[in-house]
Amino acid sequence: MNKSSDFRTLCVHAGELKDTQYGGAISPLYASTSYNYDDVDIKQYPRYFNTPNQRGLCEKIAALEGAETGLIFGSGMAAVSTALLSHLRSGDHVVFQDDIYGGTRNFIKKEFPKYGIEYSFTKGLNAADFKAKITPQTKGIYIETPSNPLLKITDLKAVSDLAKSESIWTMIDNTFASPVNQNPIAHGIDIVIHSATKYLGGHSDISAGVVLASESIIEKVYESAKNLGGNLSEYTVWLLERSIKTLYIRVQAQNKNAQLLSNFLQDQDWVREVYYPGLESHKDHQIAKQQMSGFGGMLSFNLAPGLDTKKFLKGLEMVKPTMSLAGIESTALSPRLTSHSLLSEEERQAQGITEQMVRFSAGIEAIEDIKTDVLQSITKIS
Ligand SMILES: *Cc1c(COP(=O)(O)O)cnc(C)c1O
Repeated sequence: MNKSSDFRTLCVHAGELKDTQYGGAISPLYASTSYNYDDVDIKQYPRYFNTPNQRGLCEKIAALEGAETGLIFGSGMAAVSTALLSHLRSGDHVVFQDDIYGGTRNFIKKEFPKYGIEYSFTKGLNAADFKAKITPQTKGIYIETPSNPLLKITDLKAVSDLAKSESIWTMIDNTFASPVNQNPIAHGIDIVIHSATKYLGGHSDISAGVVLASESIIEKVYESAKNLGGNLSEYTVWLLERSIKTLYIRVQAQNKNAQLLSNFLQDQDWVREVYYPGLESHKDHQIAKQQMSGFGGMLSFNLAPGLDTKKFLKGLEMVKPTMSLAGIESTALSPRLTSHSLLSEEERQAQGITEQMVRFSAGIEAIEDIKTDVLQSITKIS
């Protein structure tokens, strides 16, 4: 194949394995857990993250993020925990962005104390908020942008410049943006993590995670990864490769639906705040415009006081009130009752997560059908 750097072509062809035996059109699945040790210079084994399908898929995702290489894990949290633990030891300190994924927050709070690793959460998302938390023991900064569920934006360049001036690493959870909309390595971030359970998988049927970075950083992550053992099954590796072939067209359609739905919601009298980085009214719209090539498929909004969020979600007929996000079907949830239920009422209030809030994951359906469904549920409960 001619080497193309076009994202759409990379989605389809980067890292594909040739079927040299039968000439089939797709990558063969090598399910073997046992390989000849004489003929190859590397000993191939699933938990060594180096079987043919794993290497092919890494090449594809790394190409999409502009990374040198990467590792595929069995879940987003296996990627997060392995990336962090491989870079930390007792006595080290990490600065975390205040509103990060609940599972990551839980991991830090429950596991770090066992290993004597220190951490701080920032007060806000400006570079000064990160700088304020840096101590002589700080080894790195961990961010997530757009954030969940308020779609706040952290300035990638500002954070990476700060980290470089302090000689510390930066890690980002890039799940919400997906590689279609944001490539943090181009903005100076060192390590990119995805829960591939979300946009990379995209059909609500795969659990997986990815860590992407330079060869030398991935070598370091690998040294812990092979001990922690969080590799992904070959079958799912193969399925994830198939999913990513349509990543670009799926996410473009989701971006478009999220923008159209946000525009529509902004004009409704039964809606209060709408949080979507693609809206000019979003407080971080300018930063989002600088560092993202699309604004993503996620949005949140507050129903007007008096409207019952639970009833609204129950009343939806096409849009599914399910957990998780990023599938090709639209889904919606109440962050207070689901993703952020483990936070205290004060913590939720500090983050701006209200009882009236609905988090919406735009699918690829016709926008008219999404609007119709939302409107019929509002009519029922008004
Ligand atoms: C879902 C999610 C994770 C965790 O991924 P799993 O695949 O569920 O382990 C991490 N970060 C973000 C932003 C997520 O949405």
